[in-house]
Amino acid sequence: MSKTFDIGLESLTGRGVASQALALEWVSAPLSRGYRQVESPEAASLILYNTCSIREKAAQKVFSRLGEYRAKQSEGRIIGVLGCVAQQEGEEIFERAPWVSLVCGSASYRKLPELLSQLEAGNRRVTGLDNDTDETFETEMTRRDNPWRAYLTIIEGCDKACAYCVVPFTRGPERSRTSDSILKEVKQLADLGYSEVQLLGQTVNSYADPSSRKMRFSELLLEVADVTGIRRVRFTTSHPSDFTQDIVGAIESQSKICDHVHLPAQSGSTRVLQAMQRTYTREGYLEKIAMIRAAKRPISITTDIIVGFPGETHEDFDETLSLLEDVQYDGMFSFKYSPRPNTPSLSMNDAISEEEKGRRLAILQEKQRQIQTVRNAALAGQTFEVLVSGKSRRENQWSGHTSSHRVLNFTSMQKELLGHYVQVRVASAGPNSLVGEQVT
Ligand code: SAM
Ligand code: SF4
Repeated sequence: MSKTFDIGLESLTGRGVASQALALEWVSAPLSRGYRQVESPEAASLILYNTCSIREKAAQKVFSRLGEYRAKQSEGRIIGVLGCVAQQEGEEIFERAPWVSLVCGSASYRKLPELLSQLEAGNRRVTGLDNDTDETFETEMTRRDNPWRAYLTIIEGCDKACAYCVVPFTRGPERSRTSDSILKEVKQLADLGYSEVQLLGQTVNSYADPSSRKMRFSELLLEVADVTGIRRVRFTTSHPSDFTQDIVGAIESQSKICDHVHLPAQSGSTRVLQAMQRTYTREGYLEKIAMIRAAKRPISITTDIIVGFPGETHEDFDETLSLLEDVQYDGMFSFKYSPRPNTPSLSMNDAISEEEKGRRLAILQEKQRQIQTVRNAALAGQTFEVLVSGKSRRENQWSGHTSSHRVLNFTSMQKELLGHYVQVRVASAGPNSLVGEQVT
């Protein structure tokens, strides 16, 4: 295969975890054709810009960043746009940014090699915008840049219809990979030296094995944990309606399955949840929390909350604050409601002003900060296993994550710890991280 371009990577996505997987999946196709990743977009002759449209600002930023790329195109570089904004805006991107040559949605990444051939042949505008809805979702090769934790998408798309969300439009309906193909890839990952895998999906626990094995999600977790060399298994994001007792059972019976569940509530008010079309009530959600809290070992719970959904009253918002109090989350991602194209909530009345959304967000975050401060302080004196992933510039200072996904910064006199699992005793804590010392 000819090697015509070097590739520059740029990613603008909503959240850390998902963004890494997105950025790395799509690069696999061009890499398999012999392309080479370069350090920065400046050094590249082909720039693939990965995008997310989950909130409005992210989509707006794409166009302003594309404006910055205009000069690069005139310097002879080829610019491509990938991801959800590509899927959502389609050929409109060529209208607004005529210097772009490639627009490819996430469902069409497998077509990237073909699209690149078309560019190499001199085509000026190529697109991959099908939703590939009848195909089982498969990835052929995934590039990963974290040397210890591998991200692995097991289910694409979403069959839910939350009133605020663009995902069903941009990523299409749910498609799961076969359990055999997932397990084969996990074995390859373990052989490459990865010890932690994180299974990904918009609703990861809605996983439905399309093969005759019909493996349940909880069974898949257990089989992944059984792969030789795998020491930690994570999964995100779980949808409350599909969160079942057998998942808790799997965590209880297998310590390699991390004691952390990310279970987005979005709101504490049943009225708002109904308007959001979230398929559960506050009470139903709290039953799932009670199920997790009843597990034989403590499981950390984190969540996503949206404030300022159209029609959210002060009483509704108070119910969200009281949900935080009731559940005692260990972490929270919180967002101001952002109107998205094609979504049902776009035409809902009673929009909340930006100022009021900001006020509610600040109150919510302060409440959660207090909860985390108390919960983390209660861990002082306990010892946790940490997968070491960072070395501070300060001498003998290291950092990593516990199984519960807390950040633990610690002191150790050992010389090389990156990628190792060590026992660390917690001495003190802040709202967002713990501080401790390695125990020998
Ligand atoms: N599938 C996951 C679920 O059901 O909870 C969430 C996936 S979404 C990529 C991540 C988070 O973005 C959501 O949980 C929600 O809190 C937030 N989000 C999605 N659409 C939003 C919108 N229109 N405005 C504000 N936040 C939004
Ligand atoms: Fe969006 Fe709802 Fe699907 Fe999550 S479950 S991706 S919030 S539609």
